[in-house]
Amino acid sequence: MNAISEKAREAGVVGAGGAGFPTHVKLAGQAEIYIVNGAECEPLLKVDQQLAKKYARELVRGLELAMQAVGAKEGIIAMKAKYGEAIAMVTPLLKPTMRMHILKDVYPAGDEVITIWLATGRRVPPAGLPKDVGVAVNNVLTLINLARAVDDGTPVTTRTLTVTGAVAHPVTLTVPIGVALREVLALAGGATLADAAYIDGGPMMGKLAASLDAPVTKTTGGLLVLPADHILIRRRTASDRTILERARTTCEQCLLCTELCPRHIIGHELPPHLIVRSVNYHHFGHPSTLLSALTCSECAVCEAWACPVDISPMRLNKMLKVQLRQENARYTGPLHPADPMAEHRLVPVSRLIAKLAISEYNRKAPLDETPYQPARVLLPLRQHVGAPAVACVAVGDTVSAGQAIAEIAPNALGARIHASISGRVEAITEYAISIAA
Ligand code: SF4
Ligand code: SF4
Repeated sequence: MNAISEKAREAGVVGAGGAGFPTHVKLAGQAEIYIVNGAECEPLLKVDQQLAKKYARELVRGLELAMQAVGAKEGIIAMKAKYGEAIAMVTPLLKPTMRMHILKDVYPAGDEVITIWLATGRRVPPAGLPKDVGVAVNNVLTLINLARAVDDGTPVTTRTLTVTGAVAHPVTLTVPIGVALREVLALAGGATLADAAYIDGGPMMGKLAASLDAPVTKTTGGLLVLPADHILIRRRTASDRTILERARTTCEQCLLCTELCPRHIIGHELPPHLIVRSVNYHHFGHPSTLLSALTCSECAVCEAWACPVDISPMRLNKMLKVQLRQENARYTGPLHPADPMAEHRLVPVSRLIAKLAISEYNRKAPLDETPYQPARVLLPLRQHVGAPAVACVAVGDTVSAGQAIAEIAPNALGARIHASISGRVEAITEYAISIAA
């Protein structure tokens, strides 16, 4: 592990784009190219575009450090043309080994496999990783956190997220990690609907928030408030049985899901229409068809954009993944030639917003970094890929903001957790540590 990677480990830096992969592990590897994924292609979320503008210097510094750690010869900042103010702040700061790559406003430009392809022309093979093509990727907030970790020793104790949808004042807030979603909702003026439902994340890939008592974590990018009967909520609450029955009774094998699947069009086998057919006919078909479900990114293009009859091949893939992982199955198929029209098959975000029935919520959500002091925080021990962290404090201990309260489990992949407020440790369970101010 190099010195930069070690600083990232000490500070508990993880991929803030949603995956939560421990950054120190990525920085201990090698890559020819380091990409800053600044696409932020989830409609309505406005975190990275505003952070890149406000903290352009730290972003470029984070990229410089990441390039140094992995020995990269080129750094690329990939941002959408519509983030003009951020691009204008970042571009003059770029070093000679760095360049800005301008992306169109398409979905899913921020899926790292697609970002890599758009920014470099390299294609990550199915079931492969960016490092297989000599590339490493992190999003904007991750690299800002890295710069702060290395230059100031600052651990990750806050998270910036957009609170939007049916709220009084859509806003992008920086809050202590562990704050309840209920509190960030209040900071946005509260829900404007009596019968509201909540998505933790963006409208395409976000998960239904089961409770507003759930805490903001290192990977929480947004809180989206929608009517409880909104199509995006109904899709998420549909049972597996409903999804299977709908697929069986209405799939017309029109192929649109496959022709528009971002992974399929860059040369991965993944054919959602054949997976649907295969599941409908009791797994009839080539074995690799079903195994290719393991390579689905869960981008929701097939469900929310492509299918004309509201079938969700993505949900079938999720069900198959559970089954295939229990069997330790692996997908090993080759990379095929890309569709020559691939770039034109990505989804225009403006049309996606209309199709998702969220146009009325497509409003500004300005960055507000007014410090917020909660009365208590709940810090999950797993906010990252890997094993849960192990508490290194005891109930009753007094802790200071920034103090490590949980360490990486021995010989495991993971990330440290730090107190996000000063106070007293109230409770420790196998899942979380709570601190009262
Ligand atoms: S969710 Fe659908 S469109 Fe997206 S990668 Fe999976 S199969 Fe393809
Ligand atoms: S888009 Fe829908 S109807 Fe068409 S093949 Fe795919 S699942 Fe079937």
